[in-house]
Amino acid sequence: MTASSTPMVSAKDMAKKYGDFIALHPLNVEVHAGEFFGVFGPNGAGKSTFIKLLTGQLRPSKGQIEVLGVNAVADPQKVKANIGIVPESESPPSFLTPTEFLEFVARLRGVEDMKAKVEHWLDWFGLQEKRDTMCKDLSKGQRQKVMLASAFIHKPKLLFLDEPFANLDPIYQRKCREWLLDHVANGGTIFLCSHVLEMAERMCNRMAIINDGKVLAAGTVKGLKRSAEETLEDVFIRLVGRSIEDVERLSDEGVNDDSEE
Ligand code: ADP
Repeated sequence: MTASSTPMVSAKDMAKKYGDFIALHPLNVEVHAGEFFGVFGPNGAGKSTFIKLLTGQLRPSKGQIEVLGVNAVADPQKVKANIGIVPESESPPSFLTPTEFLEFVARLRGVEDMKAKVEHWLDWFGLQEKRDTMCKDLSKGQRQKVMLASAFIHKPKLLFLDEPFANLDPIYQRKCREWLLDHVANGGTIFLCSHVLEMAERMCNRMAIINDGKVLAAGTVKGLKRSAEETLEDVFIRLVGRSIEDVERLSDEGVNDDSEE
């Protein structure tokens, strides 16, 4: 998982155990400026753990992590101050309105022309009508829009996204995808985790596929395919080890069908 330039993210021999359970086996990863790097894997594969380690939200059980040249194990606060993060299914504080939360984040991040930027992102995400509604009374998708707006508002040069589009409708998925691609084209760097393979095809320069806390393969989307005919879904199924025959066998045996019980 390497390329040639100073890495924005570098982890060496990074591993994580929760008690005796190994959530992430030792791995190395480097992500460089201008890359859109994605980690893909099934539920429970270790994707969120991966992102939490790199963003200073979790301490590794072993290994070294540097993010924007800062030691993320020794100085996680400094890492968090310099990056953008949209954690999985996280919500803005229930007791703040979208306007209040975006103003709070913009002030914290030292955004210039704060009021105008907040207006821009409320417009961009179609949140004007809900601008003064407590976040606890927003829909899941609206809360996710507020979280994304809070990351986009300061245009972080390094942005971490964990399942960022889970609650967005297709219109906003496309809007956000285009914004992120544009951000990368202008020198931004993105590290994304998801189980939605379509995101890899449409956005990532490089990707890793993980399962059971192990990196099964890493490279460009094209490089991971054995042939032009192989789809990314084929690659995923081949690597993750759930063959189509297994799925068919399970449904033939009625494992997925309890209607006759
Ligand atoms: P993913 O994001 O790919 O769905 P996670 O990184 O959330 O996976 O979880 C990886 C594994 O670690 C799962 O088996 C999960 O149950 C376990 N796990 C995650 N967080 C904890 C925790 N705080 N304590 C114990 N086990 C955890």
